[in-house]
Amino acid sequence: AGLRDMQGCADTRKVFTKSREYRTNALRHLSNGVSSTPRASQRPVPVVIDSAAGVTLTDVDGNRYLDYALGYGPLILGHSPEPVMHALRDALDRGLRTASVNSDEAALADLIAANVPCADRVAFVNTGTEAVQLAIRIARATTGRCRVAKFRCNYHGWVDDLHVGCSPGQDGPATLGQDPRASEMVTLLDWGESDAARQVLDDSFAAVIVEPAAINAGCFAPPAGFLETLRDVTRRHGIVLVFDEVITGFRMSPGGAQACYNVVPDMCVLGKALGAGLPIGAVAGTDGVMDVVSSGRMLHRGTFNGNPLSMAAGVACVSHLQEHAARIYPRMERFAQRISAHIQHEAARNAVAIHARSVGSALQVFAGVRRVDGIGDLAGIDRDATLLLTEELLREGVFTLPRGLMYLSAIHTDEDISTTLAAITRAVRSHADRPG
Ligand code: PMP
Repeated sequence: AGLRDMQGCADTRKVFTKSREYRTNALRHLSNGVSSTPRASQRPVPVVIDSAAGVTLTDVDGNRYLDYALGYGPLILGHSPEPVMHALRDALDRGLRTASVNSDEAALADLIAANVPCADRVAFVNTGTEAVQLAIRIARATTGRCRVAKFRCNYHGWVDDLHVGCSPGQDGPATLGQDPRASEMVTLLDWGESDAARQVLDDSFAAVIVEPAAINAGCFAPPAGFLETLRDVTRRHGIVLVFDEVITGFRMSPGGAQACYNVVPDMCVLGKALGAGLPIGAVAGTDGVMDVVSSGRMLHRGTFNGNPLSMAAGVACVSHLQEHAARIYPRMERFAQRISAHIQHEAARNAVAIHARSVGSALQVFAGVRRVDGIGDLAGIDRDATLLLTEELLREGVFTLPRGLMYLSAIHTDEDISTTLAAITRAVRSHADRPG
C-alpha cells in the first residue's frame, strides 16, 4: 500500500543527485553509461532505478514514479506480478538448467498456438531482434528467394539488413558500422499505402515484414484495407507475410494485432510482453512455413533459447492474460485513450504544440506539432522538445520512454490514471511556460 501512496511523485523539486553521480562513475567503464543507446537520452539524466513494485518505480534518490515505460513494453503485468514471480521462484528452486530441454518450452508453445491465429508451430529465441532474424531466414529457406520488403518508420530490431528506413526522411542505414551490402536485398515501402505495395511486390520477394499497428512510428492503426492488401498480394506471389508483433503480441489482445484486425499472416515474431519482463523472442507460423525448422532442415540455434526462467515467466504471463483478457484489454485501451485525450485537451488549453495519439494500450506524445495524423506528419516533430516534455512528465512523477511513447499495464488503476492526468496538467503548463 505504501508504494501506491504517490505522495512525493508530484514534487517538481525532485533532485537527481545520485543518478548524476552514478552516470559520472558509469561512464568510466560502461560504454555510454547504459546498455542500450536510447536509455542515454533520458532528461535531465538517465534515472537509475533502485526498486520497482507494481507500476511504481523508486530511483536511487528516492524519487517515485508511475511507470508508463514498463521496460520498453514487456512489463504488461507490472514489475512484480505474483503469478510470474511465483513461477520464477519455483523455476529457480529447480536450478538454472540453461540449455536443457525443459517442460515449459512446449507448454508455452501450446499457449501461443492456442491464442495466436497464425501459430501452428513456435520457435524460441531471446530477443525480438533475434526473432526477426530467424523469421527472415525461415522465409528465405522456405521460398528459396532473398528479397525482403519492409516499411518506412517500422522498426524490427538492430540486425544489419533491416535496421534501415526507421526514421522519417532517412532511407539508409540507421547507424554507423552497418554493412551496406546487408540491406541490398531490402526494399522500402510506405506504411499504410496499399497501392504502392501492390505495384512493387512480385515473385522475387521472400518476405514482407510489417508492424501491423505502427507503434514505433507513433501509434498508428492500419488504414482500412492495408493489411488485407498485404495478405492478398503476398498470397498471390508466394511471399511469406510476417507480422512483427514484438510490441502488439499479447499487448493488443492474447492473439495480437492479427486477432484484432482479423488478418492472419504466415508468420509473426513475438517478444516483449510474451516474457512479462524476462528476455524472450519467438517466431510463430503456419505448419507450411515452419516446416524448414520443424524438420530440422534449417538451423535454429542458441545457447539461451527456451531458457527455463523466460519460459516459466511466459507460461504464467500468457495464462494470466488469457484468463483475464475480457477485463484487462478494454481497460488498458480506455486508459490509453483517456491519457491521450487529456494531453490533447491540456495542449489546446495552453495553446502549445503538443499532440498525442493512442492505439490499443500504447500511446505516443509528440511536441513541436499541433497534429500528427499519419506517418507523413512525422517530419514536423521536434525531438528535443519531446525530450523536454518527457522530462517535465518525469519531474511530475510520470515515467515514459524519453521519445514520448507510453504503455499501459494490466494493473494501472483508476487512481493511478487520476494521478497521472493531474501530473500531465502541470507538465503541459510547465512546457508552455518554458522560455524559447
Ligand atoms: N520489433 C519491434 C516492433 C520492436 O518494437 C522491437 C523493440 N523495440 C524489436 C522488434 C526488437 O526487439 P528487441 O529489442 O527485444 O531485440
